[in-house]
Amino acid sequence: MNFSDLGLSPETIKAVEDVGYSTPTPIQEQAIPYVLMGRDVLGIAQTGTGKTASFTLPMIDVLAQGRAKARMPRSLILAPTRELANQVAENFTLYGKYHKLTMALLIGGESFSEQEKALERGVDVLIATPGRLMDLFDRGRILLRDVKVLVIDEADRMLDMGFIPDVERIVSMLPPLRQTLFFSATMDEPIRKLADAFLSNPKEVRV
Ligand code: AMP
Repeated sequence: MNFSDLGLSPETIKAVEDVGYSTPTPIQEQAIPYVLMGRDVLGIAQTGTGKTASFTLPMIDVLAQGRAKARMPRSLILAPTRELANQVAENFTLYGKYHKLTMALLIGGESFSEQEKALERGVDVLIATPGRLMDLFDRGRILLRDVKVLVIDEADRMLDMGFIPDVERIVSMLPPLRQTLFFSATMDEPIRKLADAFLSNPKEVRV
């Protein structure tokens, strides 16, 4: 199996080839076609399996058509830590280089004004830690009603770090008709309950 068998666009395949990857990892093989179809995905995968590209690559193609309006991101990726949020942003930059997607990274410890300016310009891809997203939301800088794709990355770490109430509040403000991709390294009872609450008829992928 190679990347061109998964239904990705020629531009996205070229970006992957530029990085030097020749074959998709098992989670990429399993998840990418379903993300492209618009299905919800429940991915049970550790870091190191290639899980980040399993959602960034198809999202680039899903979001390629359309344009973001001011303060209304078209997709939202929630990550538990700044480091992870940064890695996800690097992935979008690397794989999205032949597309014209706009992106903003909302993480703590950085100035609000740059993040607010980016939101005002309109973003296709918004990557955030839950706390900073809530801060900017409460300041009226973000409207979530245009979000078409939501990603919860490393849900088990979100739980360990006490972010679930924030995540639940954020999800409650999103349109119910959206695509949701939910990733966790483990799938015990509380995580399963969250997944059930956020996903609709998901394709389960486990590596
Ligand atoms: P992740 O699980 O997303 O943290 O990715 C783990 C590492 O695998 C990262 O350094 C990626 O750049 C790398 N990677 C992702 N997809 C592939 C692939 N198809 N072939 C080789 N390496 C990959």
